[in-house]
Amino acid sequence: MGEALAQARLAGGAGDVPVGAVVLSPSGEVVGAGRNLREVAGDPSAHAEVVAIRAAASSLGTWRLDGCTLVVTLEPCLMCAGAILQSRIPRLVLGAWDPKAGATGSQWDVVRDARIGSKVEVVAGVRAAESAALLAEFFEARR
Ligand SMILES: [Zn+2]
Repeated sequence: MGEALAQARLAGGAGDVPVGAVVLSPSGEVVGAGRNLREVAGDPSAHAEVVAIRAAASSLGTWRLDGCTLVVTLEPCLMCAGAILQSRIPRLVLGAWDPKAGATGSQWDVVRDARIGSKVEVVAGVRAAESAALLAEFFEARR
């Protein structure tokens, strides 16, 4: 989570909403890192999770990220929850909840939806205060 928070700070420094993510291999090493690049890249799909998942798939040479863990500072949105399912990531560690747009336990719970049939383990609240503080500072400064 420390590395995901560092990614989030980089995003915030570049004018993007500060969200960061890393993908850990089954043995626990970082195989992909990403930060929100929506403004910088002008890409609506460049959320931290998608960027980190793409980097991990590229470095591992496969789209199947079985056994990997996604660590992200903010609860994933619908698109990113979908990307977690599509990449077969079985474990998600998140910082702060996103009660407005979160799709892994708050507003929706796409990664544990029985209709989809896959069950991602979700560990929430890891360094949540730091993650939320980054977001609060970012939006405070914009006002
Ligand atoms: Zn997202």
